[in-house]
Amino acid sequence: MKRPENIVVLGSGESGVGAALLAKRLGMRVFVSDKGSIAPGFRQELASEGIGFEEKQHSLDRIQAADAVVKSPGIPNSIPMIRQLRDQGMPVWGEMEFAWRYAGPCRMAAVTGSNGKTTTTELLHHLLLAAGMQVRMGGNVGHAFTRLVADDWQSGRQNDAERVFVLEISSFQLEDTETFRPDVALLLNITPDHLDRYEYRLERYAAAKFRIAQSQQAGDLFLYNADNPATTDYLQMHPVTGPEAIGLRQPAPANGRFTAAGHTFDLSTAHLKGPHNAFNALFALTAALRLGAAVQPLQAALNSFRPPAHRMEPVGEVGGVQFINDSKATNVDSVFYALSAMTQPVVWIAGGQDKGNDYSVLLPLVSEKVKAIVCLGVDNAPLYKAFAHLGKDMTAVQSAEAAVREAAALAHPGDVVLLSPACASFDLFDNYMQRGDLFRQAVQQLISSTKTSGNVTG
Ligand code: ADP
Repeated sequence: MKRPENIVVLGSGESGVGAALLAKRLGMRVFVSDKGSIAPGFRQELASEGIGFEEKQHSLDRIQAADAVVKSPGIPNSIPMIRQLRDQGMPVWGEMEFAWRYAGPCRMAAVTGSNGKTTTTELLHHLLLAAGMQVRMGGNVGHAFTRLVADDWQSGRQNDAERVFVLEISSFQLEDTETFRPDVALLLNITPDHLDRYEYRLERYAAAKFRIAQSQQAGDLFLYNADNPATTDYLQMHPVTGPEAIGLRQPAPANGRFTAAGHTFDLSTAHLKGPHNAFNALFALTAALRLGAAVQPLQAALNSFRPPAHRMEPVGEVGGVQFINDSKATNVDSVFYALSAMTQPVVWIAGGQDKGNDYSVLLPLVSEKVKAIVCLGVDNAPLYKAFAHLGKDMTAVQSAEAAVREAAALAHPGDVVLLSPACASFDLFDNYMQRGDLFRQAVQQLISSTKTSGNVTG
């Protein structure tokens, strides 16, 4: 298709605004349409760039007049307007696809999976920076890929082949890719999540994830998790033949040591903890070496890497009780890993907006490791239904502060209080970050109040 002159962008969050900026830098005419309201910061950015927009409506005439439509990932393909546009032959690109088409010569690693995307993306970015490469990170974390590419067009770097992008990509973003072709694709794992958008079929969700490799060719690398049944089952039915495909297995670090692409690394000196993070590190190191990073700086980089907040983040200790913020654990699988990594008795804070969770996989771990459950949600019935028969202490609260207070009262010295909700946060909080921040604040308040009163929890 020849280069479009007239673009309409649907959605006006970071992806939509990034796409609009890129279209403008490419000299295209662009208009942004959002069915909801546009956040003030983004509205201001569009206005200061002179980009036209509408909110709280989609003007179909205006949209149909475009040469191509760029869609934000939050907008499902199944809504009538998108179907209609496609039926009419309108090219509808995802924001990632749009960025990729105009990114120019560069190298790219793309990270997807149900869990571990942000940790692995940030780690890979950190490793490549340490190796002296010109790397930037974005996609589903930080800046939209379109924004990064728009910046390059603005600064005249769009033809610099030394550029490396490390992108986190959600399955929603992958749904709308056609020619998107990373040099290295990392598919960390596939476990039930967001099934509401995939007609409750794991295979359809897996199909979206596998799109990460669909345009890859000889010379590219596809890294997948050979221990993950949903991945290997899918591969058996739909083999990946374009790129070199390498299945990685959970490292069983002997004294923290494991090998990646033939080189030995040591996690015992790193801040990354737990078997899931050893797996993330294996993926990131293998990708870094493939992208041409020298081996020598990688161990020091592994040691200096700080995992992102809200993922098994220690937030303080009160009276011998450790508090851990794993607010990002918004599905059952990530809680499975969190509980697996626990070596002390756990007071578990869970709950929120349930996405149709099947908690049964957690039952053995909860029986063994959890002494009490604090349910933090508007509707805690699913948790009671799943766990009440275990006979643990259970209590229900509706704020992070109350959760910390209750948990502290239930915990004894040597225990861990773990916020690892298995659910989305939108019933009580703006997002998982706010949930985690309020939890951290409540712990800090508890620490200062025990310091002043001399009280110890118990
Ligand atoms: P994502 O970006 O895919 O949501 P994060 O790195 O933000 O992944 O981690 C989300 C949650 O999953 C956290 O609770 C984290 O401790 C857990 N987690 C991280 N890596 C893995 C993994 N490889 N397998 C399972 N759970 C993981």
